[in-house]
Amino acid sequence: MKIKMILPALAEAESPFWRPIKYSLFPPLGLATLAAYVSPNDEVEIQDQHVEKLNLNDTPDLVILQVYITNAYRSYSIADHYRAKGTYVILGGLHVTSLPDEASKHADSVFLGPGEETFPQFLKDFKNRTPKKIYYSSIRTLERMPPIRRDLIKRHRYLVPNSIVVTRGCPHHCTFCYKDAFFESGKSFYTQIVDDALAEIDRLPGRHLYFLDDHLLGNQKFASSLFEGMKGMNRVFQGAATVDSILRGNLIEQAAEAGLRSVFVGFETFSPKNLKQSNKKQNLKRDYKEAVQRLHALGIMINGSFVFGLDEDDKDVFKRTVDWGVKNAITTSTYHVLTPYPGTKLFKDMESQNRVLTRNWDLYDTRHVVYKTTNLTAEELKQGYDWAYKEFYRWANIFEASFNHKSHKHKLKHLLYSGGWKKFEPLWNFIIKTKNLNNMLPLLESILSKVNYYEKESFSGNSVKLQRTTPTRQHNPVNN
Ligand code: SF4
Repeated sequence: MKIKMILPALAEAESPFWRPIKYSLFPPLGLATLAAYVSPNDEVEIQDQHVEKLNLNDTPDLVILQVYITNAYRSYSIADHYRAKGTYVILGGLHVTSLPDEASKHADSVFLGPGEETFPQFLKDFKNRTPKKIYYSSIRTLERMPPIRRDLIKRHRYLVPNSIVVTRGCPHHCTFCYKDAFFESGKSFYTQIVDDALAEIDRLPGRHLYFLDDHLLGNQKFASSLFEGMKGMNRVFQGAATVDSILRGNLIEQAAEAGLRSVFVGFETFSPKNLKQSNKKQNLKRDYKEAVQRLHALGIMINGSFVFGLDEDDKDVFKRTVDWGVKNAITTSTYHVLTPYPGTKLFKDMESQNRVLTRNWDLYDTRHVVYKTTNLTAEELKQGYDWAYKEFYRWANIFEASFNHKSHKHKLKHLLYSGGWKKFEPLWNFIIKTKNLNNMLPLLESILSKVNYYEKESFSGNSVKLQRTTPTRQHNPVNN
């Protein structure tokens, strides 16, 4: 049997002329994870439209499409194309789980929730010619998972081929997040067995890893054992964590000791009312500045995430947010226009208040305003969002933020990472087009190298807590 797995390009990502670097970062790990359940007697391939032209002239027996909200229309058209040829088509992913009725019109089977249990069941049913129309995920476990089919990934086309996920979901319940809808009717946060995660890490070549977990520090026991096991592995890695988890205990020091060099943090908003409305309890009454300083002290770069358009936001929110990021030496900032994804509590609330303005899913890319705003007009929100990006990434602000670090190495790292990320898009485009992206990995690894003990941040008169890290950790040669 011939099986084809496709990740269609997001609406905002595909252009024959321009390939923004952020869409060539990670391979389609979810599809490679499912491919591991396919029998060795079957042929399977993965195509990712973000990095290659899709071949739609073939006639596989089975096509599997991974659907996000802004690739939904493209996915449906590819699905219709293959179904017209007699190919059996299945659709799964976040958007399908949120809107199964919409997706079902373009599929022979749809998958709701994660596929680790349902996909192997489907394969059995398909071979017995008894596939079901809908597969609901109810059993949630990552035990006995076969090794991901990384051999199907075209590594050279990605900057970060070593992406990895060792947990599923998140312990929190923010109202704007897809997570609760995707994991409905079962566990919404669970982890791999630590030894399995370490074995998966061991299989990955090179030094650099990117953990795509929603919250790598979400289960303290698991994360602590994972970092302990990684200590001798000579890795550098990036991941995501919450403000709360950075401030609590010494997990973040363990992570730094294991090789954490950059972290994505969902600050989202400074307003307690906005945080309450978003059910973002993990940020409430937490000192963002203290979290930032703790990360700086450990030599960990920060990608801060911020949402604009929450109900308490006013016209000053954009400037306040950019200024705070520059002053606190946030390495990179990701700004979002608040977006009520279908299936989320936010969407339900807005729909009940008649605030959803469009159901054109291509506009649900966190750059467009798709709902009725309150304090800000839609134009103010959109303009403020565009302004914030431009302003934060002005050279003057990149330099100022870099020079807000005390150590020379950290200043340089900040400058290279932030500037390289946003200021050299034409160069990235050239590198992507000439298929040399993977050759840039050593540069990324060197930017992520450790800031040595004596070079660490020492903000005078602030509350950086170097004493939280033990001398043994600081001098661990593994991470130098
Ligand atoms: S902390 Fe992040 S991943 Fe978890 S529910 Fe909130 S937004 Fe989603």
